[in-house]
Amino acid sequence: MGMEKWGLLFSLFLSLTSFSLITASGHRVCIIGSGIGGSSAAHFLKSYSLSPSLEISVFERREKVGGRMATVELAGDTFEAGASILHPKNYHALNFTELLGLGRRGDNDDSWFGVWDGKGFVFKTMPPCQWVVLKKLASFFNSLLMFGRYGFSLLRMQSFTLSAVANFLKYYEDSRPIFESVEEMLKWAGLYGLTTQPLQVELEQAGLSDRLISELVTVIMRINYGQDVNISGMAGAVSLAGSDSGLWAVEGGNWQMAAGLIDRSNASLFLQEEIMSISNLGDYYELNSTKGNSYHCNITVVATPLDELNISFSPPISIPKRKLQHTHATFVRGVLNPGYFGLKSISEIPNLVGTVEVPDLPFSSISVLKEYSNEDKAYKVFSRVPMNDDLLDLIFSVRKEVVRINWAAYPHYEAPEIFAPIILDQLHLYYINSFENAASTMETSAVAAENVARLILSRLSSSLINESKGYVGTSISQERMHVDDL
Ligand SMILES: Cc1cc2nc3c(=O)[nH]c(=O)nc-3n(C[C@H](O)[C@H](O)[C@H](O)COP(=O)(O)OP(=O)(O)OC[C@H]3O[C@@H](n4cnc5c(N)ncnc54)[C@H](O)[C@@H]3O)c2cc1C
Repeated sequence: MGMEKWGLLFSLFLSLTSFSLITASGHRVCIIGSGIGGSSAAHFLKSYSLSPSLEISVFERREKVGGRMATVELAGDTFEAGASILHPKNYHALNFTELLGLGRRGDNDDSWFGVWDGKGFVFKTMPPCQWVVLKKLASFFNSLLMFGRYGFSLLRMQSFTLSAVANFLKYYEDSRPIFESVEEMLKWAGLYGLTTQPLQVELEQAGLSDRLISELVTVIMRINYGQDVNISGMAGAVSLAGSDSGLWAVEGGNWQMAAGLIDRSNASLFLQEEIMSISNLGDYYELNSTKGNSYHCNITVVATPLDELNISFSPPISIPKRKLQHTHATFVRGVLNPGYFGLKSISEIPNLVGTVEVPDLPFSSISVLKEYSNEDKAYKVFSRVPMNDDLLDLIFSVRKEVVRINWAAYPHYEAPEIFAPIILDQLHLYYINSFENAASTMETSAVAAENVARLILSRLSSSLINESKGYVGTSISQERMHVDDL
C-alpha cells in the first residue's frame, strides 16, 4: 500500500475518533463525572436553559453512573456502599426523587447504639422494642439516658447544628445570587466562618462539654467522615446534621438519582470513557480519553475531585493541594464475636457500634445492615485502614462473605480550609467539587452543581437562556420549606 493511502486511512481514522461536539450555532457542554454533581449539573443546565442548541455530554470512566452513590452485593442482597443517607431538608434530593418517581425509605430512627473505647462500652442506648407502646417508652428512656450522661450540652449541640442548617437553607431561596467562588458562596450564607476553625473550637465556644465532644460528637465524625473533631466546623456541622432524625434514602439505591437526571436532561452519556486530558484550543476545549477518542466542547465542567486523578490540563491549572480521606468499607455477612467486646452473648452488642479516638482502635464503626437471624446478619464496617482477614477473624465469630471497598471518600478537612476556584481558567472550564472543601454530601454536590449551571448560563449569550425561567432558575417551593420547618 502506498504512503498516500496510509495517509488517507490515517486521516479517516482521526476523523472517526475525533467527535466535534460543537453544533453549528449551539453550545456543547461536556461534563466529566456522572455522580450527583455531574448529573445534577446536566439536569439544571437543561431545565434552566431549554435552548435547543445547548447539548450536554456526560463522560464516566466506570461502567455505571452514580460515582460515590454506589451499591454493593453481599450474599444476594444489595446495600448502599457509599453515600447512604439524606437529610429531611435535602430539598434538591427530595425534588429529584419526586421528579423521577423514585421511592424513599426511612432510616431506622430508633437504632440501638453504643460507644466503644476499645475496652468496653462507655455508653449504650436501650435495645429496640417491637411493641409500639414500649418503643415510645424506650425512646423516652433513651433521651433520659442521653441527658443523664451529656446534660444541657446536648441542647447546645442541637442549636449549633440547627443554626448551620438554617444558613444552608438560604441556597434554596429565590434571592440567592450566582457565585463565582466558594468563599463568596459561603460568606453569603453566613457559613464561611465555620470553615476557618476546627469543630472542637467551635463547639467549645458554643459551650459543649468535653465529654460530649470526645464521645458522641467524635463518634459521629468518625462514622460520617472517618475523621476526628479537628475537622472544620462546617464539615462538622454537616456531619452532625447527618445524625438528625428523619433521615432517608432512595428505595433501591441512591445512584438512581444520577441515572434519572442524566436521562431526563437528554444528555449523551459516554460510559467507560475516562478523560485524561483537557486542552484549550482557542475556540473550544479538546477532551482526550484513554480509549483514544477526542471530543470538542465549548464548555467543560469537572464534576469529580481532581486530587487523586491524573487529568492533564493545557494550559495548566492551579488548585490548592488537598488530601483525601480514605475510608475502607468492609461488608460482612456473618456474626460478631461477643468475646471481642468482652460480652457473653451477641444479643448484648448494639446494632451500631461507634468508637472514640483511641490509638490502634482498628475500626471507626460497625453497623447492622440486615438481620436474617440472631446468628446471621449483614454488617458494614468503616475503618481508616484495611480490615485484613486476621483482624476480621477476631471481631467476627462467623464470616460467610466479605466485600471490601477502599473509597477515596471525601477531603481530609483541615481548618482554615482553602478553596479551589469554581472557574478554573477564567474562561469556560468549571469545577463543581471545589465546594467539597466546605462539606461532602450528595446535597452539597447538587447545590454546588446548581450554582455552576446558573453561572455557565449567566456567562453565555442571552440567546441561550430560557426567557420565561431565566438562568435564576426555579428555587425550591417556599411552601415545601415552610411545611418541613414545622
Ligand atoms: C463511604 C462513604 C459514605 C458517604 N456517606 C454519605 C452519606 O451518607 N450521605 C451523603 O450525602 N454523602 C455521603 N458521602 C459523600 C458523597 O458520596 C459525596 O459527597 C457525593 O456523592 C459526591 O458526588 P460527586 O458527583 O461530586 O462525586 P462522585 O460521586 O465521586 O462522582 C465523580 C464521578 O466522576 C468519575 N470520574 C472520575 N474521573 C474521571 C475521568 N477522568 N473521566 C471520566 N469520569 C471520571 C468517577 O468515576 C465518578 O463516577 C459518602 C461518601 C463515602 C465515600
